[in-house]
Amino acid sequence: MILDAINYNLSNKSVIMIDKSDQIGGAWKHIKFCNVDKLENAVHYLLPNEECYYFLEEFLKIKLRGSDKKFFNMRFLNFRFNFPVKNIFSKIYFNFININNKSLLNLPFIIKSIFSTSKIDKSKYPANGSLELISRIKKIAEESNLNFLMGKEIKSIKVLDNKVYILVNEELYTTDELIISHGFLPPKQFHINGQEIKIRGLKSLRGSLHINTQISSFKKFRKFKNKFSQIIFPKDSIVKYIHNLSQFINDKDFSKNYKFIVVAAVKNEVKKSEEVIREVIKLLEVSRLIPKSNNRRREDLFWQDIYLPILLNKDLEKINKISNNIIRIMYTDELSKGIAIYSKNWKFLKEFCKKDL
Ligand SMILES: Cc1cc2nc3c(=O)[nH]c(=O)nc-3n(C[C@H](O)[C@H](O)[C@H](O)COP(=O)(O)OP(=O)(O)OC[C@H]3O[C@@H](n4cnc5c(N)ncnc54)[C@H](O)[C@@H]3O)c2cc1C
Repeated sequence: MILDAINYNLSNKSVIMIDKSDQIGGAWKHIKFCNVDKLENAVHYLLPNEECYYFLEEFLKIKLRGSDKKFFNMRFLNFRFNFPVKNIFSKIYFNFININNKSLLNLPFIIKSIFSTSKIDKSKYPANGSLELISRIKKIAEESNLNFLMGKEIKSIKVLDNKVYILVNEELYTTDELIISHGFLPPKQFHINGQEIKIRGLKSLRGSLHINTQISSFKKFRKFKNKFSQIIFPKDSIVKYIHNLSQFINDKDFSKNYKFIVVAAVKNEVKKSEEVIREVIKLLEVSRLIPKSNNRRREDLFWQDIYLPILLNKDLEKINKISNNIIRIMYTDELSKGIAIYSKNWKFLKEFCKKDL
């Protein structure tokens, strides 16, 4: 969305980007955890999309990395192993244990699903983490003089006579056009030409847990840090996938104690509890994905309730239709698809990125 705003701004239109958060990045913004200032806040991925990858590499100069060090974690003969996602036998076994009715009659189904999981081994990620991507976008936004209203919430929207009246905190703004995307939380007071807009949206809970383990030996820390990038678990597991975050932290940022930090995405709709946290940690420890530890402190754990996506396509389309396109919409629920769709129109932004920023 911010890339679209930059492009619009560069086309000589007057643009203001409003965000109730005090830092840019939306769902991708960073958190402070265990004294690491800018840490990834969730398990992210860029689903396969060549147009998106091209835009990020060619124009934003972000190096992307494929699925090396990505594994399926599966039980085999009562032990848990990490199998490379690219390996065809790993894929067959992963698909086999994921189906409910395990019979040979299901073989065609398993083979078919191998191709659907191929998204996993074809997705990419910024090689230096998402901080580089967010920082790059922030720099381009600043260099292009995009106006920001950060830390300010849209409290009400009224569309009347081809104008949009937006109450941002206590201040009223009038504009010819408003652009919203999937991550927008519509205010309670929302009227288009006298009609009250009620959006129910979707609330789907995807909890995540950051786990830090202090390690005093550099050798042991390096072993874990280089072991994996992402691990995917079978359907019946409490954890969906985990991401190694220490791979994106500079060694120089550590003092005597090294921090091995992972973030685990837990199964949909699982709520925070001591029991769930214990179960997640135990699974990762027995899988040798985090070091065993008896002295993890409360501050070494950080649980987030994440709801995604809030708005549905049909909600956005309804708002766009009733407002006669005065409220323009962007499909951003899947980042790589969104970048691929909209980057086709980012003529001014692409030209601007060619400058030595
Ligand atoms: C934790 C999380 C992880 C995700 N990971 C991935 C991923 O790995 N890959 C992927 O493809 N997609 C992912 N998604 C989906 C995500 O929706 C997109 O990646 C993308 O971030 C959507 O962009 P957006 O600008 O529409 O929304 P967001 O990135 O959610 O940003 C919306 C921004 O609008 C602000 N805002 C909302 N309502 C108001 C209001 N009323 N007034 C003022 N400001 C407001 C919020 O503060 C926020 O900063 C993730 C979503 C979440 C929540």
